[in-house]
Amino acid sequence: MLKWIFNLALLYLVYRLIKGFSSKPSVEEKAGTEKQKPTAKSGDELVEDPQCGVYTPKSTAIKGANGHYFCSTECAEAYKNSKE
Ligand SMILES: [Zn+2]
Repeated sequence: MLKWIFNLALLYLVYRLIKGFSSKPSVEEKAGTEKQKPTAKSGDELVEDPQCGVYTPKSTAIKGANGHYFCSTECAEAYKNSKE
C-alpha cells in the first residue's frame, strides 16, 4: 500500500516536472525570436533592400551597383531596371 502511494507521488512529481519544462522554454523561445528581429543572430549587419524594403544579413545579401544590397538577384535587377 505504501509503495502504491509512493509511486503515485512520484508520478505526480514527474507530471509537474514535465509541465514545468514544457511551458518554460516556449516562453524563452518567444522572447528570443523577438530579440533577434532587429539584428541578426551572428552579429551580422542587416542591410535594407531598396527594392522591396526587406532587411537582409549583409553576408547573404546580393550587392548591386551603387553599393546597394538586395535580398535577391530579382530585386537587384528590378531596382537596376527601375533606375534606367
Ligand atoms: Zn528584395
